[in-house]
Amino acid sequence: MNVSYWEKKSFFGLQDLIVVGSGIVGLSAAIHFKTKYPQKKVLIIERGIIPQGASTKNAGFACIGSAGELLSDLVNDDETTVFSLVERRKRGLDLLRATLGDKAICYEPLGGYELFENEDKYAKIAQKIDYLNKSLSEITGNKSTFSSADSEINDFGFKGIQHLIKNNCEGQIDTGKMMLALEACAQKLGVQLLYGCSIKNVIQNSKISGVVLENGMSIESNKVLVCTNGFAKDLLPELDVVPARAQVLVTSRIENLKIKGSFHFDEGYYYFRNIDDRILFGGGRNLDFKGERTNEFGNTPIIMNRLKQMLDELILPNQKYSIDHVWSGIMAFGENKNPIVKQVESNIFCAVRLGGMGVAIGSLVGQEAVELMLDNV
Ligand SMILES: Cc1cc2nc3c(=O)[nH]c(=O)nc-3n(C[C@H](O)[C@H](O)[C@H](O)COP(=O)(O)OP(=O)(O)OC[C@H]3O[C@@H](n4cnc5c(N)ncnc54)[C@H](O)[C@@H]3O)c2cc1C
Repeated sequence: MNVSYWEKKSFFGLQDLIVVGSGIVGLSAAIHFKTKYPQKKVLIIERGIIPQGASTKNAGFACIGSAGELLSDLVNDDETTVFSLVERRKRGLDLLRATLGDKAICYEPLGGYELFENEDKYAKIAQKIDYLNKSLSEITGNKSTFSSADSEINDFGFKGIQHLIKNNCEGQIDTGKMMLALEACAQKLGVQLLYGCSIKNVIQNSKISGVVLENGMSIESNKVLVCTNGFAKDLLPELDVVPARAQVLVTSRIENLKIKGSFHFDEGYYYFRNIDDRILFGGGRNLDFKGERTNEFGNTPIIMNRLKQMLDELILPNQKYSIDHVWSGIMAFGENKNPIVKQVESNIFCAVRLGGMGVAIGSLVGQEAVELMLDNV
C-alpha cells in the first residue's frame, strides 16, 4: 500500500491499544481506556462503514432479566451465578446511562413485560415472585423488581394474553442514538476510528503485536482487544462462540397506539416494543435454530411470516398497519450466558459473546476487558 510518511506517523503508527469492532463493547472499552490514559493512542477498527454488529441492529431493550428467564436459569445454575449476571447487567446499564446521559440515548423507564398465554406457565412463575424480589432487592434497589401487571392487559389491547409480569427496573433506549452518542464520546476523548476496514488477523510474536488488515497492511499495537461478538471465531477460532441471527420488523405508524414499553414472550424468543408510534417486533429464531445459526444477514419467509401472523393475531388485533422495514442482526451465544472476557495471548485480549442482552451489560464488559488488560501489563 502506498502510505506516506505523514499517514504512517499519524494514522498507522504504533498504537497503545487497538480495538477490533466498534459495537457497544468496543466503544465502551476505548472510552474507558482513553479516560484513564488521555495521552495514549487508541484506535478502533471496524469493518462496516458504520458498526455492523448487533449494537446498531438490536431492539433497544434496556433489560436485566425477566422472572421467567431467571427461574429457568436457576434450574441449571446456582443463585450466585444467576444473580451476579443480573447485577452485572444492572451495573452496565447504570454505567451506560451515567456515561451518555438518559437524554442522549432516549432512555425511558417504561418497564419490561413478560406475556403469558398459558395459565399453568404463569402460575409456576407467579408463586416465586416474592422470592425473586427478595433476592434482587439489593441489586436493583427496588423491593418490587417484579409485579403483576394484569390490570394493564386491556389497556394495551392484546388478544389471548392471560397474564403480564412487569420488571419495574427495565426500560428502553433509542439504539441508533446510543451508538451515535458512544461514538461521539469516544471521538471527543481522542479515540481514532477507522471504518470500512476489515481485520484479517490479530498477530502476536516475540517482537510485535498488532493486526493485519484485509489489504495486507499491518498496524502494530502494544495491546489488541477483539470485540467482534458474533464474528469472533473469524479471528479467534478457539473461542466458544456460536453466532445466532435475529430477524426484526418495524410497522408503519399506528394511530393511537396503546402499547408502551418492552414486551417479550415464549421464553424471550419473541419481543416487541413501541418506537415512534410504531411496533418493532423481532424473534422467532426457535422456528429454525439450525438455519439461524449463522453470521450471514438475511430474512426468511418462515420467520417473517410468523412474526406478521403474531402481530395480526396477538399484538395488534383489528388494527390497521403495514410492515415498513425489516432487517436482521447477529448475536453470539455459547455454553453459558456469561460474556467471554479473557486474555488470549500476552498482548491479545477479547470481550465477546454478549448473548441477547448486551445493551445493559455491554458497557461494563468493555470496562472489565480494559481492567483485565491493565492487570496483565
Ligand atoms: C436483532 C437483535 C435484537 C437485539 N435486541 C436486544 C435488546 O433489545 N436488548 C439487549 O440488551 N440486547 C439486544 N441484542 C443483543 C445486543 O445487541 C448485543 O449483545 C450487543 O450489541 C453486542 O455488542 P458487541 O459490541 O459485543 O458486538 P457487536 O455490536 O456485534 O459489534 C461487533 C463489531 O465487530 C465488527 N467486526 C466483526 N468482525 C470484524 C473484523 N474482522 N474486522 C473489523 N471489525 C469486525 C462488526 O462489524 C461489529 O460492528 C439484540 C441483538 C440483535 C441482533
